[in-house]
Amino acid sequence: MTRPIRLAISGASGRMGLALLNLVRDDGRFELVRAIVSSKSTRLGKAVYGDVSPLRFSAWNDATGIDVVIDFSGPEGLDQALDHCEASGAALVTGTTGLSAEQEARLTHAAERIAVLRAANFSLGVAVLTRLLREAAAALPNWDLDIVEAHHNRKEDAPSGTALALGHAAAAGRGATLDELAVYSREGRPGARKAGTIGFAVVRGGDIVGEHQALLMGQGERVELGHRATDRSIFARGALESAAWMAGRAPGAWTIEDVIAAKV
Ligand code: NAD
Repeated sequence: MTRPIRLAISGASGRMGLALLNLVRDDGRFELVRAIVSSKSTRLGKAVYGDVSPLRFSAWNDATGIDVVIDFSGPEGLDQALDHCEASGAALVTGTTGLSAEQEARLTHAAERIAVLRAANFSLGVAVLTRLLREAAAALPNWDLDIVEAHHNRKEDAPSGTALALGHAAAAGRGATLDELAVYSREGRPGARKAGTIGFAVVRGGDIVGEHQALLMGQGERVELGHRATDRSIFARGALESAAWMAGRAPGAWTIEDVIAAKV
């Protein structure tokens, strides 16, 4: 595209939305044309991004000419963003989680007519780690493989969604499903370990943003692959890179791995 990409951000007053606003401000590839917030959050958005016309902090209403929508809102906000994209043909990049089965189906259906990119983790580094781990697990099929993850002490789920996604990728590299290969530390591991299984270990404490390490353990040697997030803005950066890649993209269900593949 020779002109700036006309961008809308849905959920602009949230943690991820604000991180995106801060990045877009200094990124010449984009022109921010809408910052969609829920009515309760309008003042916060204006305070943080005061040089944008207040009119742009609004609902979708009469929005036109948008190339890409980035959505980090919630299930309702995503529905509204999808309404706009389906009506206008704009591409959709979404990181919103916690969707219902109906919404999952709606996104899949929408991808037949518009470009849709979904990712549970927008870190470009994690996407590369996922790919490397799939290859390593395939090349070393009988080595013990453990995924160790660490997060702050407020995180509720364990293992993390990213750890499980890494597990799925490793299992796929071994031609199996994670259900077939997983051994969880909370179940204990009595006796000898079955060759090629995938284990999980969880650390919770302090303000750790997110760390994932994959250990592939053979006899007399070990391969270690890992990723450390030190700043939540990495998710915003990944979403913005994805938006740049999605502008003008053909309809389809695209993934963060497609974005990486185009870069390396
Ligand atoms: P948040 O609660 O800080 O922000 C969500 C914002 O959306 C809020 O400001 C809320 O007012 C706003 N909102 C709600 N309904 C809306 C509507 N109808 N229209 C417009 N805005 C609306 O949450 P967050 O931490 O920014 O995360 C947002 C979503 O992104 C969550 O689903 C979270 O799980 C997900 N997330 C994904 C990634 C990733 O890499 N994929 C990373 C972080 C968070």
